[in-house]
Amino acid sequence: MELCLTHPQHGYYVTRDPLGASGDFTTAPEISQMFGELIGLWMVQQWQKQGSPAPFTLLEIGPGRGTLMADLLRAAGKIMPAFIAAARLHLCEASPVLRAAQAAKLGAYHPAWIDDISSLPAQPLLVVANEFFDALPIAQVRFTGTGWVQRAVTLDAGALAFTEIPTDDIPDDIAATNIDGWLEVSPASRSVMQFLSAHIAQHGGAGLFVDYGYLTLQNVKNCDTLQALQHHQPVNPLADPGHADLTAHVDFSILGWIAQAAKLKVWMGTQGDFLRALGITARAEKLNQPAELARLTAPDQMGDLFKVLIVSAA
Ligand code: SAH
Repeated sequence: MELCLTHPQHGYYVTRDPLGASGDFTTAPEISQMFGELIGLWMVQQWQKQGSPAPFTLLEIGPGRGTLMADLLRAAGKIMPAFIAAARLHLCEASPVLRAAQAAKLGAYHPAWIDDISSLPAQPLLVVANEFFDALPIAQVRFTGTGWVQRAVTLDAGALAFTEIPTDDIPDDIAATNIDGWLEVSPASRSVMQFLSAHIAQHGGAGLFVDYGYLTLQNVKNCDTLQALQHHQPVNPLADPGHADLTAHVDFSILGWIAQAAKLKVWMGTQGDFLRALGITARAEKLNQPAELARLTAPDQMGDLFKVLIVSAA
C-alpha cells in the first residue's frame, strides 16, 4: 500500500493530482468552500482556547490542492487577523505534483513544506488532516486458533494475488480482542497520532482529523475495507498498482485512545454533527447551496460515513 501510494518515483500520489471530476475521487473541500471555512472558524476558537499563542504552527497533513487551507485562512482572517499573523504555515505533503498546486494557492502565506511530521518546531500546534489517515498502510490480520496470520501479496502465475503468512507482530490491544475473523491495524496511523499527541501534550494545541472510518472496532468484525478507486469507480486493488487510489477505513477508536493516553481531551462524532454544530445550515442558506449542504451532511451521503476526531491540550 505504501509503495503503491508514495514510492518516490512511481507512487500514485507522487505522479499525479488525483482529485476532482477528471481524476479518481473527490473530497469535501473540493465539493464546497463551506468545509474549509467552518474548519477555519473552529481553528480560531481553538487558538483562543489555547490562549492565543504567537507564534504557533498551523499544520495540514496531506493538503491535496490546498483548497481546505485556502478556505480556512480566508475565513479565519476575516474574523481574527491576529490568528493569521501568529500562524506559521506548515504543509506535510508527499506529492511534488500536489506541492506545486499548494504553492500556487497558498504562496501568499509562505508555507514551509515538510516530508514528515517529526521536524515540527517546538511551539504550539494546530493541525488539520482531511482524508489523510485513510491513505496510510494497513495490515489485515486474523487469529487462526493457534497463531496469527497476516494477508500478504504474492505472484501467482504472473499476476498479483493475496495470500496469508504467519506473523507475531500484533499490537497488544489487537492480540487481546476476542473478535473473530479479519481485523485491520494501521501501525503508521498509530505512530502519526502518537507523535502529534505527544507534541500537543508538550507544547499545547489541538488537532482535527476527518476521514471515513469507524468509531468502535466492534463494528467491523471480519473487516476488509481495503479499497481501490479509479475514475470514481471501485477496482481490484491488485489490478493496476500505482495507478489506482488505495484506501482503508480509519479506526478512530484507537486514534482517540492514543490521544487520551497522552492526556489530551478527545471528541469524536460524525462529519454531519460536527459541521451542523459549527453552523453549516445557516452558511448554506446564505450561500444558497442546498446541494453542497446535503452532500457534506446528509446521513446517506458523507454525513455519517465520515467521522471527526478532535484532540486538544485544554
Ligand atoms: N486533504 C486533501 C487531499 C486528500 S488526498 C483533500 O481533502 O482534498 C490525500 C493527501 O495526502 C494527498 O495530498 C496526498 O498526496 C497526501 N499523502 C498521502 N500519503 C502521504 C504521506 N505518507 N505523507 C504525506 N502526505 C501524504
